[in-house]
Amino acid sequence: MIASLEEQLKDKLKEVFGYSSFRGTQEAIIKNILDGRNTFVIMPTGAGKSLCYQLPALILDGAAIVISPLIALMKNQVDQLNAVGVNAQFLNSTLTKTEMNRVKRETLSGEVQLLYVAPESLTKEENIEFLKKANISFAAIDEAHCISEWGHDFRPEYRRIKQILAQISNMPVIALTATATPKVQIDIQKNLQMEEADIFKSSFNRENLYYEVRPKQHTKKQLVKFVKSQKGKSGIVYCLSRKKVEEIANLLQVNDVKAAPYHAGLDAAVRIKNQDDFLNEEVDVIVATIAFGMGIDKPDVRFVVHYDTPKSLEGYYQETGRAGRDGLEGNCIMFYSYNDIIKLEKFNKDKTVTERDNARVLLDEMVSYAESSLCRRKQLLHYFGESYEHDCNFCDNCLKPREKFDGEEYVQWVLRAAMETGERFNLAHLVDVVKGTPSQYVKSYGHDALSIFGKGKELEESLIKSVVRQSLLLEFLEKDIENIGVLKVTAKGKDFIVDPFAIKLSKDHEYDVEVTEEEEDAEKVPTTTKAYDEALFEMLRNLRKKVAKQMDLPP
Ligand code: ADP
Ligand code: MG
Ligand code: ZN
Repeated sequence: MIASLEEQLKDKLKEVFGYSSFRGTQEAIIKNILDGRNTFVIMPTGAGKSLCYQLPALILDGAAIVISPLIALMKNQVDQLNAVGVNAQFLNSTLTKTEMNRVKRETLSGEVQLLYVAPESLTKEENIEFLKKANISFAAIDEAHCISEWGHDFRPEYRRIKQILAQISNMPVIALTATATPKVQIDIQKNLQMEEADIFKSSFNRENLYYEVRPKQHTKKQLVKFVKSQKGKSGIVYCLSRKKVEEIANLLQVNDVKAAPYHAGLDAAVRIKNQDDFLNEEVDVIVATIAFGMGIDKPDVRFVVHYDTPKSLEGYYQETGRAGRDGLEGNCIMFYSYNDIIKLEKFNKDKTVTERDNARVLLDEMVSYAESSLCRRKQLLHYFGESYEHDCNFCDNCLKPREKFDGEEYVQWVLRAAMETGERFNLAHLVDVVKGTPSQYVKSYGHDALSIFGKGKELEESLIKSVVRQSLLLEFLEKDIENIGVLKVTAKGKDFIVDPFAIKLSKDHEYDVEVTEEEEDAEKVPTTTKAYDEALFEMLRNLRKKVAKQMDLPP
């Protein structure tokens, strides 16, 4: 008796992967690939995308090419597949000539079922020639958002993939990503020339994740307090710079949290060890730059903290998606400050005009998310092109609705401050003028003599800042294109000055950051870090060697 396709698929699933049923649309996707159709899979992190190309590769003749952006990711999957007896190999720059030849030989003889290729290796002429001779069943492009400049991990080599695959043969293509705003999705389809592809898009809603945005004030205290409240659970803390990663890892360590740093500037061996320690639970918290996490499959990450404001919502969502992959609770806390946004804008200074414009749009979307008082989940899902009608009741805005206040007069003050100072100043300056702070700049420009100076002296500085930012969202203010940070009044804003109307603004959430004396002491960051000490010892060792050599002594 011949088993039906369904039975055959189920058997493979059980036999090779050890699972008893498919998740979501996995089976439909697999059938689509077996039918030789171009397929576009958009599913959140942890949904089980890899299986969608791994399983059909085992059924079809020849090798499936899998393109994946990171060598670590490839190695991880190849190791897992080899462990269950599948012939999967990779082709990348880490192989020796002999290994390379073996992989090629086994591919040509039809033994290899999955051939993982780094995009850089795919573009090599000799590899293209080799692949032309091989029997290729289909190509899977994992993390396909790397194609789009609108994505958060743009990789220029990804844009050449289609052109190279077309040279090899007319194989079906399956693109997979966990990140697809409508913009990124269109970009991917255009670039891969698969506008006709069958799209399998599942909801991005992660019901078990709690989202919260906190103002970046007393951030270290808030962080320590939060991490301590998690009592040894697994978590990731993302920071924007390597320096910050070191600093925060150290801060947590001195507060008795088992934490380790992870960033691209660390020695590869240290990086791998820290990652393994985290996976093996020797370490509870990994403090990392965004270099950490792609393809990391740790199901019980209980929290993801963004210590610095991230540069796009795509990246943010991807990173928070690493929490609660087992379906249990996941806390996603982001610290937000407009100063971070300004810093990020400065990074973009040297980019081309288009790149800068793109980056600016992404940042604006981040600002609007962070400052809005709407349900976070609704905003995130909306951003990914999904409709979500009701409020989620599982985010800070739903659970602790923000206090509203009449903002008309304050907005007026801010706009007038911008007008009266000639629309040439940044947020901090406008805040100083409204608050009546006689800073060096304010005095040197004589702005302390303006009638608007000190109008808001009764207000908290943070409130004035928030009014400025909300005026940006209301499009009463806009950012000057040429001068980063400079705020100008829009036509709409000018109308508002003359003809104001009632508006409600929302207050930032307040956080209780009282800490015990013990924590207060611990919060003092030690002056040297482990990395610093190691560097110092290394230098001393070298010095000793040099001296020994000069004196002709044994080292
Ligand atoms: P993605 O690439 O979508 O982020 P992965 O392919 O890394 O997700 O899979 C996430 C986890 O789900 C892995 O541990 C994988 O083994 C598991 N998984 C995938 N499919 C199934 C299934 N049908 N049943 C149970 N677990 C599955
Ligand atoms: Mg994946
Ligand atoms: Zn909500």
